[in-house]
Amino acid sequence: MMNLDQIALKIINRTTGKSFADEGRLKSAQMVADKFVVEYQRDGIEAAQKREIEDQFVTLLKDQIDPDKIIVKTFSHNTTEAKPAAPATAQLKTGHGPAGATKKRVPGVKQVIAVASGKGGVGKSTVSVNLAISLTRLGLKVGVLDADVYGPSIPMLLGKREAKPRADDNKKILPEESHGLKFMSFGLFIKESDPVIWRGPMLGGVLNQFLFDVNWGELDFLIIDLPPGTGDMQLSMVQATEVDGVIVVTTPQDVAVLDAQKGLKMFEQVKIPIIGVIENMASFVCDNCDEVHDIFGSNGGKNMAERLGVKYLGGIPLEKSVGRGSDQGTPYMAQNANETRPTWKAFYDIAKQLAPNLSESSEKGFFGRLFNR
Ligand code: ADP
Repeated sequence: MMNLDQIALKIINRTTGKSFADEGRLKSAQMVADKFVVEYQRDGIEAAQKREIEDQFVTLLKDQIDPDKIIVKTFSHNTTEAKPAAPATAQLKTGHGPAGATKKRVPGVKQVIAVASGKGGVGKSTVSVNLAISLTRLGLKVGVLDADVYGPSIPMLLGKREAKPRADDNKKILPEESHGLKFMSFGLFIKESDPVIWRGPMLGGVLNQFLFDVNWGELDFLIIDLPPGTGDMQLSMVQATEVDGVIVVTTPQDVAVLDAQKGLKMFEQVKIPIIGVIENMASFVCDNCDEVHDIFGSNGGKNMAERLGVKYLGGIPLEKSVGRGSDQGTPYMAQNANETRPTWKAFYDIAKQLAPNLSESSEKGFFGRLFNR
């Protein structure tokens, strides 16, 4: 196996004609679990060239490592942020954001996780919010970014529909707070009656602004609730930032959609690790009993995850009070009365997998293995 210095000598920056060794760009090259992860400093490297550099890594290493297992990460010294918009009330900029933008980490945020789904209505937002609250119950600081420009429902789920975002003294947008979560949503900036067509051009630029012009403070997790679908639009939204992983929410009925699309694979192409699949409404729990009825009974989510080679994080039952909690602006996991319910445990169990350092076991969890932390 080649070491870091040997690899750095062979990777060439075509713009300057110099090797990564000459430019001191290669920061690390090592096995992390079963993946070979290389990380280089990307300043001055355009999007097209980035792809070409990825190809160089794969060509160089493919005899030693399965190309699917090679992960090329980047970081940047140039983290100067775009100018915030307005002095008093926060406003949004439109446009797709800078072309070929460098992937940036959201300052102060340890893990950025996107939540995606094959189609709408599977409970992606419900799961995002309840999972986020479960993480706060594990003692973590959590933010939720509602990037679902077509159906921004987070303000409603968190009982903050009327909130009007403001900016701080440094002209950063202040996130709203509710049930122990920080959150920001397109829904706070657009009227429900605004035509959907107007929203399209805003996507890239606004997500960028929500990530980098919002004063998130210190967070353990930032959960991005993506628009439904796993196409190009979702990818371009997350491409400008270092997303640590994506969770896909599906239902037993929706499994086929995702399976047919092989949508998840798209995230792998842009080197965003897939943390796993959550199957929502996987079973049924009635109001007055604690029994989980396996009405769909087919292990569909589990089987799909297996076929796609991704982890099955767990199933969330269909329970009336999950929907009711959302309608009332007090999510299920924010209601202590639900503590003994199986659905509560289901959310909690998944949250623990995302925060492995807090689990009872001393063995490293998924993130630990993936990032060797
Ligand atoms: P998406 O974000 O995928 O469009 P939502 O989170 O808005 O989906 O959920 C769609 C509907 O299903 C909402 O009315 C929500 O309250 C309901 N719902 C979602 N998950 C559950 C669940 N586990 N039990 C009961 N109702 C649920």
